[in-house]
Amino acid sequence: MTGGRHSAHPAPIVVAIDGPAGSGKSSVSRAAARVLGFGYQDTGAAYRALAWNALERGVDTHHATSVIESLETFEYSIGTDPDDYVVRVGKADVTHEIRDPRVSSVVSDVARIPEVRAWLVELFRGVIAGTTLPGIITEGRDITTVVAPEGDVRILLTATEEARMARRSAEISGQSAEVTAQQLSSRDAKDSKVVDFMNAADGVTTVDSTHLDFEQTVNAVVELVRTVGIETT
Ligand code: C5P
Repeated sequence: MTGGRHSAHPAPIVVAIDGPAGSGKSSVSRAAARVLGFGYQDTGAAYRALAWNALERGVDTHHATSVIESLETFEYSIGTDPDDYVVRVGKADVTHEIRDPRVSSVVSDVARIPEVRAWLVELFRGVIAGTTLPGIITEGRDITTVVAPEGDVRILLTATEEARMARRSAEISGQSAEVTAQQLSSRDAKDSKVVDFMNAADGVTTVDSTHLDFEQTVNAVVELVRTVGIETT
């Protein structure tokens, strides 16, 4: 038997985590990956990098055909080591720039294009398949449902809107809490027309972090993964 969990080289454990903006899924996923010795894939970074690339090249993000054409020269790479998280477009390190509000405000426009989604879903699956670590955590909006519906552990990370807004506004400086809240809810509204990341699909475990601190949330995720690890070995 090769490739199964009982062989000398067990198949990596695939963890899928979805959730709305400000649910803490990026930082929680990254910290959980570190604890578990797993890889970490932030899929939102790819949509952001594509939006950044469009802005850089003067591509109209409302014009689907132009955005699709821009994929031909889109050289994207992301580090999956949770301790070495770098997002690159070509040679440019865009790790921080893709978090800019100017990118956040147009990212939903590129993410709603089906061809863009199909292209990126393949890329994400390739990264999952290529992992050489014991497992990989991939987080986003459609990981539990589209990218890795067969994942070993599938989690929806939620928190009340109030808690999410408060966390996100603590992360972003130089902008009022009201503006941050408004941007977040408008992005969630646009994104939820494309994928449902507010309700857990069948077989997906909801972790509500509203009343959990960061460490407790990471522990909840780690415990879920360890439970599956025990069940499958
Ligand atoms: O997770 P993050 O907020 O960085 O995601 C940025 C944007 O990328 C989201 O607002 C959404 O438009 C898009 N996205 C997506 N599907 C994913 C991950 C992100 O549509 N799996």
